Formats: sequence, structure tokens, C-alpha cells
Amino acid sequence: MASKAQPSVIIAGGGIGGLSAALGLARKGARVTVLEQADTFGEIGAGIQIGPNGFHAMDYLGVGQVCRERAVYIDHLIMMDGLSGEEILRAPVDEPFRKFMGNPYAVIHRADLHGAFLDGCRADPNVTLVNRERVISYENTADGVRVVTAAGTVYEANALVGADGIRSMIREQMTGGDPLRVSGHVAYRAVLPIEQMPEDLRWNAAAIWVGPKTHFVHYPLQGWKTFNLVATFVTDLDNVGSNEPGKREEVLEKFGHIVPRIRRILEIPKDWRRWVLGDRDPIASWVDGNVALLGDAAHPTYQYFAQGACMAMEDSVCLSDAFETSGGDLKAAFKAYETIRIPRAYRVVLSSRELGRIFHVDGVERLVRNAWLKDKTPEEFNHSVRWIYGGNGLSGAKAKTAGRAA
Ligand SMILES: Cc1cc2nc3c(=O)[nH]c(=O)nc-3n(C[C@H](O)[C@H](O)[C@H](O)COP(=O)(O)OP(=O)(O)OC[C@H]3O[C@@H](n4cnc5c(N)ncnc54)[C@H](O)[C@@H]3O)c2cc1C
Repeated sequence: MASKAQPSVIIAGGGIGGLSAALGLARKGARVTVLEQADTFGEIGAGIQIGPNGFHAMDYLGVGQVCRERAVYIDHLIMMDGLSGEEILRAPVDEPFRKFMGNPYAVIHRADLHGAFLDGCRADPNVTLVNRERVISYENTADGVRVVTAAGTVYEANALVGADGIRSMIREQMTGGDPLRVSGHVAYRAVLPIEQMPEDLRWNAAAIWVGPKTHFVHYPLQGWKTFNLVATFVTDLDNVGSNEPGKREEVLEKFGHIVPRIRRILEIPKDWRRWVLGDRDPIASWVDGNVALLGDAAHPTYQYFAQGACMAMEDSVCLSDAFETSGGDLKAAFKAYETIRIPRAYRVVLSSRELGRIFHVDGVERLVRNAWLKDKTPEEFNHSVRWIYGGNGLSGAKAKTAGRAA
């Protein structure tokens, strides 16, 4: 059992959520063991958008600088109408935006972001990383928690953090199994070498083409060597799936109505990967005794605000800060953490559902959407998103607030 002097934490799952929490807690003095089911620690070969709030969190966790060096700094967030090809919104995320939010909006390869946390954990003597350990259950004990893995190993610590993703075992045990909400939204991902990206679309932007029941996202990645592509469409599929081989014909069929300049891009990738997306309804608590949920395990969300990983990193900031503030009292830290994080993370979850609906509308609703967004000035845009990008995972005086962030 852990010594009283150095509280110990087991983290189930070594994704961006689990590793950022491990690094954050270790930097505050906890002894952390990360149990990851996969053979190696890693991320998929795709890009990820990081809003200024993600950078606020990375700065707190000590990986901001290294991620800045690996990121591509886009100039705009652009929304295009996939039916007509007209521009709906061009929001600058340039210097005035960065100054207002206190950090940039950037895109980065997932392996670079995950790798920054992995390197940080490997270099920290307070962190132990263990592969091929699939957590199957936990038991609260008088002064901690006992964790059992599929291999039959038993681990003990003062607390357990379930950062085991959208299909979290820890959440299942905690809630008795709340259902996944399957939307039938399917995301296809591919990464194109820059030479294959049509020259007239090599924009320094995160661009989204919205159409009825579909949308398509592209942005530059890896020092402009590649372009990240995500093609999403709505189906009546009733199962959630991750990283399956995709079918080019399925993408082309679903995007039959999209403007030819985008269809041309969709024809290029030979190795699409496919995700069938889902989320979960909010739950009132993320804590069961000495156990807490974090990241997608706590608040799986659609990607429409590009905020799932940013929220996971904010969770890690909040939990680390609460751990420090409570003087290492993990129970008190868990309570403070969920009180701060639940309203914010679920605002993103619920707003993402609505944003997905707005992306995919047709008919008069499409015209209303386009007219509404076309009208926005950069200042109005900045103010409308400050609730997301101004945050850093903390509350009160410690919160970073857009417009007055350092
Ligand atoms: C198409 C798409 C685009 C996205 N784009 C963005 C974006 O631009 N910006 C953004 O911020 N977010 C984005 N997201 C969301 C983001 O990817 C996730 O929210 C984030 O990766 C969640 O991290 P996590 O560590 O909580 O979970 P995961 O990444 O799922 O990690 C969970 C880890 O736990 C391990 N594990 C699972 N079960 C067990 C177990 N029982 N025992 C031990 N280990 C276990 C898994 O192997 C995995 O390593 C996107 C998501 C999708 C689907």
C-alpha cells in the first residue's frame, strides 16, 4: 500500500487524457502508475485541432512549448457551403485572436501531442508506465482502491482515475452501464501528402464544408508536409466503431451532392479509416469513493467543436490543481474536480450535438444558418467562442478568461 507521505494514483488508460493526468499529478508530487491495455503507448496517425484553451492546459502541464514547436498555426477557421461552394464564415485566428484568447489556435499531429505527454511521463520519476494491462474492475477499500486487470494482476493505490475512453470499464462499473448514444454519424479520416492536395485548396486554415447530412474538414499538418482530411456523414448505423478500414465508395456515395472541387479530393485517398461516432448523456457524478473518471470516459463528445482532447487536458489541469490545493487529499480533490468540470465539459458535449445538427441542415434551415454566420464580425466571433477558448480547466481567480488572459 502507498505511503501516506506520497499519495499514489493508478490511471486506467494511456491516451491523451490518461497521460496528461499522469504528468499533471506527478508534477504535484503524486506517485502515478498508468495501466494501458495496448502493447505500446501511442495515438492514431491523424491530426487534431487545439484551441487556445488546449494550449492554456498544455502550458500548465509543462508541454506547451514543445507542442508549439510541432504545431501548424492556421490563419483562419473557414466554413464553406458544400452545396453552393460559397463562403459562409471566415474567422481570423491571427494575432488579434491570439491576443484576445491568450494563446493560438493550431493544428498538430496526434502522435506529436501524445508524444509530448509520453516523453514528459517517461522523464518523471513519479510515473510508472505499464503496457498490456487491461483494467477489468475496481474495489474501494478503507484507504484506497484495489484494481484488477485481465491478466489477473492486482494493483493497489490511494485512488484510481478512469481515463479509459468512450467504452470505459471504470464508468461501466460506476454507473451500472449507462448506454452509448449512437448517432449514426460516421467519420472517415485520411492524411494526404501535400503534393496530392489540389493547389487551390492548400489553405492555411481549418476549413469545413457543410452540406445536408455531411461535412468535410481539411487542414495542413506536420510542417505543411501533409493535409488532414475528415469526411463525416449521417447514416442509420446503430453501432459505434473505431479505426476500422473504410470504403472509398461509401464516402463517394454519401458525398454525391458535394461541390466537384471537394469530390475531387475525396477520390484521392486509398486508405481511409472509419469511425462510427457516439457520445453519452451527462451523468451527475464522476466519482465513486476513491475513483474518478476523466476525459472521454467522463464526457465523450462529438468532434464538432474539436474539443474532446482539449477537455481531457483541462480535466487534468483541474485535477492536478485540486490535488495540490487539497494538500494531497485525493477524495477532496475528486470532489472539487467534478464540481468544476461537470458543467463546463457537458456544455461542450451538449453544444457539440447542436453544432453537428447545424452543420448538417438542409432547405430553409441551411439558408438561415448561412445568413446568421455570414453576418458575424471577427469581434463577434471571438466573443461567441470565448466561453470555450478562454478557459483553462480552472475556476475563479485561477481561470484564464479571454480578453484578460496573460
Ligand atoms: C473524428 C474525430 C476528430 C476529433 N478531433 C478532435 C480535435 O480536433 N480536437 C480535440 O480536442 N478533440 C478531437 N477529438 C476528440 C479526441 O480524440 C478525444 O476526446 C480524446 O482523444 C480522448 O482522449 P482520452 O484519453 O480520454 O480517451 P482515448 O483516446 O480513447 O484513450 C483511452 C485509452 O485507454 C485505453 N484503455 C481503454 N480501456 C482500457 C482498460 N480497460 N484498461 C486499460 N486501458 C484501457 C485505450 O487503449 C486508450 O489508450 C476527435 C475525435 C474524433 C472521433
